Amino acid sequence: MDSPYINSSEDEIGVDRMYGYNLRNAWKPNPNGKISLRVGQVFESAEKGREILSKYEIQEGFELDKSKNDARRLTYKCKGDECTWRIHVSSLPDDVTFRIRSITGDHVNCRRVMNNNEATTNWVASMTSILIRDNPNVKAKVLQTYIKSTHGVEPSKHKIYRAKRKELKMLKSDHVDCYGQLRKYGNILLQMNLDSLVMVGIDTLCVTPKFQRFFLSFNAQLTGFIRGCKPFIGLDGCHLKGPYGGVLLSTIGLDSASGIFPIADCVVENECMESWSWFLERLHEGLDVLDQIDIFMSDQQKGVSAAIKQQWPRADSRYCARHILANLTK
Ligand SMILES: [Zn+2]
Repeated sequence: MDSPYINSSEDEIGVDRMYGYNLRNAWKPNPNGKISLRVGQVFESAEKGREILSKYEIQEGFELDKSKNDARRLTYKCKGDECTWRIHVSSLPDDVTFRIRSITGDHVNCRRVMNNNEATTNWVASMTSILIRDNPNVKAKVLQTYIKSTHGVEPSKHKIYRAKRKELKMLKSDHVDCYGQLRKYGNILLQMNLDSLVMVGIDTLCVTPKFQRFFLSFNAQLTGFIRGCKPFIGLDGCHLKGPYGGVLLSTIGLDSASGIFPIADCVVENECMESWSWFLERLHEGLDVLDQIDIFMSDQQKGVSAAIKQQWPRADSRYCARHILANLTK
């Protein structure tokens, strides 16, 4: 078995050996996301070791007494009265990586802890992040039930509320950053991806410039549609979740094998004839074959039919059969 020790920090062969050992024994989660621990596994740092042990504690449903928790050693014992389970982790000679030295004892009569202190607000926020980002209005009760069913712990409602507030705040700041960089992103796209169509619409009636719309179609989408697609365009829109809302409008074509071919996307403030017209006008600028389009298909959304008629009075307009059926069965 490889020894993780080296004789001297100057010994390059020893350093290489330790590096190789760490690489082969680096801790990794199981494919199903579960944490399992064994002697010899290496954590990339003390911080990472603490994080994994905390998650393991929550996963296994017991609480750990951190009898040693410093820059060189982590020795944790189960708090169960009759329990003998303990784990010892210590630093390797590089003073950065940590290795599991021993795992001893067994859990004896240890009951699952439902309100584990390691299930902190940050932990709850990271575990429910996908649900909150997918639906910012998700109820605290739903998040609590999700955490209980997936991790076997039941954080208090207050902790759930705090975690949700924290995640929403982060989500909003992510959006602020992203929307703030749209113009820069658009300019870079125009420089790096020649002949693409990018447009950022600003609401000029506001005292300070305010984002209104964004249109994007890559050159490959435009030329791909012109060269290889049928004379057909499908239009659709969906509401955007998140702090700023808005609607995403998109168009698709059909390639020679009737596969879906995306042509352009657009973010607008709401769905109406004016916003659809703006989107279709931009599309017209990029596609000089638009006059040859025979059919536009949409789902009877607000304003889209009128906008198509306004831009292409001779084109045939159809409705998506699935949406008609859905509307009839509402
Ligand atoms: Zn135990």
